Amino acid sequence: MNEAGRIYFDNAATTPPAPEVAEAMRPFLAGDFANPSALYRGGQENAERIGLARRGVARLIGADEREIIFTSGATESNNWVLYNAALSGGRRRIIVSAIEHHAILEPARALTQPPFNLELAILPVDRRGIVDPAQLRAAIDGNTALVSVMHANNETGAIQPVRELAQITHEAGALFHTDAVQSAGKIPLTLREIGADFISLSAHKLHGPKGIGALFCREGVRLRPLLTGGSQEYGLRAGTSNTAAIVGFGAAAELAARALAAGDCPQQEIVAALWKRLCADITGLHLNTSLDSALPGYLNFSVEGAEGETLMMYLDMEGFSVATGSACSARDLNPSHVLLAMGRTPELARGALRVTLSRYNTAAEAARLADVLPPLVARARELGTRMRAVPLREA
Ligand code: PLP
Repeated sequence: MNEAGRIYFDNAATTPPAPEVAEAMRPFLAGDFANPSALYRGGQENAERIGLARRGVARLIGADEREIIFTSGATESNNWVLYNAALSGGRRRIIVSAIEHHAILEPARALTQPPFNLELAILPVDRRGIVDPAQLRAAIDGNTALVSVMHANNETGAIQPVRELAQITHEAGALFHTDAVQSAGKIPLTLREIGADFISLSAHKLHGPKGIGALFCREGVRLRPLLTGGSQEYGLRAGTSNTAAIVGFGAAAELAARALAAGDCPQQEIVAALWKRLCADITGLHLNTSLDSALPGYLNFSVEGAEGETLMMYLDMEGFSVATGSACSARDLNPSHVLLAMGRTPELARGALRVTLSRYNTAAEAARLADVLPPLVARARELGTRMRAVPLREA
């Protein structure tokens, strides 16, 4: 079954490609296949299209096109930045926040092992899921090479005070990276103003194709090549350019910039109305998203006495795609590290649902969710009560 005909509320995981994006990519999947490094006409035309896309992505975050390096996605961009810090010599400490995506946490932990043996400090967050800059001030020192704090969290939508964090980082002579995968194209912010040295982006979170992302690297900041070979991506990431995906990313970035300029953001009010209705119809709900300050369209809440996984599956059967608050691997039933870091109990963290809207969702779809959820919560709670009544057998 595909997502057609269903109600898709998992836009933090990935977004439907915009029709204009698919249209822009089409020629490069068929007749316009020439290698963009080739010097004959087809190659040069494709190189030009890649240049246009690079400018589109750069404009979205207020960067210069020479500062945008295309990658396979944000996982690659994040890993690149961390390993770059480890390989740069000198300072041996990195700092990340407790609510980072696994694409930061895992490589950061790996770098504490041989042969790198870096020191890793993890910044806590408050109950809203926000890093306190004072915590960074306390953790940073003259041995710190890199601080990486995401721009907005993928589970709660909580926006981080990155401008202040970047400032503190620079005062200590370190570099600042932000994973802006969730916020890029959703809030009108010139990331350059933040003063980040590195920014990770991913096309599929803003109605572009999967498998393409970018790393912004501020001019003058040292970045070691990730892959050597050809001279693609300024010699920093060799390999034949994926013209179709890059063009799709450029188209998505331009659409997002236009929607932002037009103030086209219906999802904020839709989510506020949805939450109001859910609270009126269901008891024991706990909000994990600060609706007045988070990314538009994000709603994460915990349902007392119910498992998020059970609710997610019941909703799936009703034709809704939503996520739980638990770790992003479907096999991992551990409660979300983000919600635990925010001080939620493991029970509440396990009872979390994440509903994320894009600018393509409608109020009618949200109203339909509000209609179907109350009886499903009652069923999930009943199941939970029955499960708890069954004594656990000794292993
Ligand atoms: N960072 C954040 C905050 C994300 O939400 C995701 C995707 O889930 C990633 C990184 C990984 O991005 P990609 O799928 O482009 O590798």
